[in-house]
Amino acid sequence: MKVIYTDNNATTRVADEVIEEMIPYFGTLYGNPSSMHTFGDQVGKKIQQARQKVADLINADPREIVFTSCGTESDNSAIFSALNANPDKKRIITSNVEHPAILNLFKHLRDKKGYDAVFVPVDKTGRLNTDMLYDSLSDDTAIVSLMWANNETGVIFPIDEIARKVAAKGIIFHTDAVQAAGKIPVDVKASGVDMLSLSGHKIHAPKGIGVLYVKKGMKFFPYLIGGHQENGRRGGTENSVSIIGMGKACELAADHLPVVDKEVRHLRDYLQNRLLEKIPSVSVNGELENRLPNTLSIGFDAVEGESILMLLDREGICASSGSACTSGSLDPSHVLLAMEVPFTSAHGTIRFSLSHYNTREEMDHIVDTMVPAIEKLRAMSPFWKDGKMV
Ligand SMILES: *Cc1c(COP(=O)(O)O)cnc(C)c1O
Repeated sequence: MKVIYTDNNATTRVADEVIEEMIPYFGTLYGNPSSMHTFGDQVGKKIQQARQKVADLINADPREIVFTSCGTESDNSAIFSALNANPDKKRIITSNVEHPAILNLFKHLRDKKGYDAVFVPVDKTGRLNTDMLYDSLSDDTAIVSLMWANNETGVIFPIDEIARKVAAKGIIFHTDAVQAAGKIPVDVKASGVDMLSLSGHKIHAPKGIGVLYVKKGMKFFPYLIGGHQENGRRGGTENSVSIIGMGKACELAADHLPVVDKEVRHLRDYLQNRLLEKIPSVSVNGELENRLPNTLSIGFDAVEGESILMLLDREGICASSGSACTSGSLDPSHVLLAMEVPFTSAHGTIRFSLSHYNTREEMDHIVDTMVPAIEKLRAMSPFWKDGKMV
């Protein structure tokens, strides 16, 4: 059966061009980029090219790019560096809809290390309460970390404005741009962020490669202490193969931005409008305007998201539910809870996240599968009677 992959916020297909670029470095070109000989140095040169391509995607200088092992490592490195730079400051600020890579780190720092962690709330549309954010900024604040775009709803935070206000207070600002990169323009110079995280496997590079942008002149404390690699900012022999793949993926992502903004957005809107048209008692989670062009988080009243996923799976359709799936529970995710999405809609939430590999035929197939699937599940639901929710 052909797979219809609409789970791109979870991970993406590695682009053929990326695989092709990496293959020689798995095989004959295995040199250590730090070696003095030409054989190793040619890998070093290729890594420098990749660094330039990554920098170009976010309008950075290549010297500001640190390669890591994943988005999670980038997030952790950024936070720990800021804490090391400010050993006397105890407040750390984030939102309550962050990815676990930030959320659980902040909870750990609060519960085990005594930090005063502030989790700024969002409203029902997923918009950050910026008044509360600005009120919480204090002389005692070591770092503010906020995601550029949300992985579940696609809601985009006003990072440019926030970065400016945080910088005015002399506080370090980090953003997790893992979901924003490759989907909307990300410009570190225009936004003025101090640190920014990327992850390869969310932008058609392999799993296990991440990037941390560190603004020039920022004091940086390495998370992995070891060799002199990455200009002394991360020890460990470079994952040259994946770094080279990441460079290619960033080059492709820059090329594809207009395609995502136009064609992928069209497909997403098409899917959204079809589902809203054909199925009653459905609502989209998150504000419609400031939203990633590829993401649709949509709640179907009176059914379980997991049951929908099972029926989709039979048709080869890959999507996600709105539950706290990582913990194996059926409770709504922390993001939907933070947005106070009504219980029954949160339970029946599905996230479709598209890429430029998707087609209109696939969207039609999803709709043709969803309509009878929801009907069938509602026929068995105690919360559904006579064509409406009870
Ligand atoms: C996937 C993701 C991460 C984690 O990246 P990994 O490379 O899987 O560690 C962090 N933040 C956001 C917003 C993500 O979507």
